[in-house]
Amino acid sequence: MTPTYPCTVCGRPETVHFMTMPQMPVHCNVLWPTPAGARQAPRGDIQLHFCPTCGHVFNADFDPALMAYDQAYENSLHFSDRFQQYATALASDLVARYGLQGKDIVEIGSGQGDFLQLLCELGQNRGVGFDPSYDPGAVRASGGQADPGRVRFVPDFYGAKYAGQPADFIVCRHVLEHIEDPAGFLRLVRGAVGPREATIVFFEVPNVLFTLRQQGIWDIIYEHCSYFSPHSLAYAFAQAGFEVLRVAETFGGQFLTIEARPAPAGNPLPTPNTSDLAADVAQFGRLYHDKVQTWQQHLDEMAQSGRRVIIWGAGSKGVSFLNTLPTQDVVAYAVDINPRKEGMHVAGSGQQIVPPTFLPGYRPDNVIIMNANYIDEIGQQLAALGLSAAILVA
Ligand SMILES: [Zn+2]
Repeated sequence: MTPTYPCTVCGRPETVHFMTMPQMPVHCNVLWPTPAGARQAPRGDIQLHFCPTCGHVFNADFDPALMAYDQAYENSLHFSDRFQQYATALASDLVARYGLQGKDIVEIGSGQGDFLQLLCELGQNRGVGFDPSYDPGAVRASGGQADPGRVRFVPDFYGAKYAGQPADFIVCRHVLEHIEDPAGFLRLVRGAVGPREATIVFFEVPNVLFTLRQQGIWDIIYEHCSYFSPHSLAYAFAQAGFEVLRVAETFGGQFLTIEARPAPAGNPLPTPNTSDLAADVAQFGRLYHDKVQTWQQHLDEMAQSGRRVIIWGAGSKGVSFLNTLPTQDVVAYAVDINPRKEGMHVAGSGQQIVPPTFLPGYRPDNVIIMNANYIDEIGQQLAALGLSAAILVA
């Protein structure tokens, strides 16, 4: 009998396999002190399935047992001005629209608490952040000023045992896509809200429409077991007992946000029309293979002509690119502006991570960048370093 891979949102067994990325590093943001260690980083297969019922995309081969890690983990987006501006505008908007003044705010997966502090400062709110990886030392080292009267942190997973924690507003950003059973997780959140009908929940996840329609093939990483569409995100919340107030595409279409509150009993499940999404999915496999093949040719040409090649950006997209293609003998270094990554090595492919100031000594001929939005900024930085390398957008 052919095995079935039920949808991780709606549970329907009729899902369609449409893409395979074999043996990708399971962690893009774990830093490796040696190239040999980096090349032995744990790997797993990505098998993307699409659910025509709710419009969800997920990795049917995801194995949560591979996700345990004890290496240094660095995924701070703190160093991107654009991301910081986005977070500030988002917090102001939420405070204004939901009247968050003097309220109790819970953040699930609060990291080091930057966003929670922002929400609490803007509206004189009280915040509790739940995150098992919370490290007060890292907050102090980064100059963060946790205000103990306003915000506190619980180094634990949020769950039913915290149902008594006051919560007028529950925030959860970039967590749901990492959770093997998102439907179960949302039921747990709904259970913790209990009878408090006025509580608002706000979640943010990457938007699979952006990945599919902008050929964002490097956005697909093992750490994300779920790829939500607006359809599947709304379906997941309705199924868990929430009334969906709003779903929006944000951050230039790269993210989805959802706002919801407890639903009255008998709230009906949506029946999304997923035919457009099915068409996007159907052509994505071909686009993926075309793009990989084109880059294979570029890299072959660079290798044959003896060019010095580097990649700019050692985040998830860069790690995905470096491991999808055989880059080890062609791409010498990965540049990253995050000083905590300096001197470490990229998971899987093993390139050393260097700061921009390393480049004048190396004089690259080609610089591969992962996001067209940064082409001008990176071009200016290269010019300021006295370099005239050709920039290619991956
Ligand atoms: Zn589904």
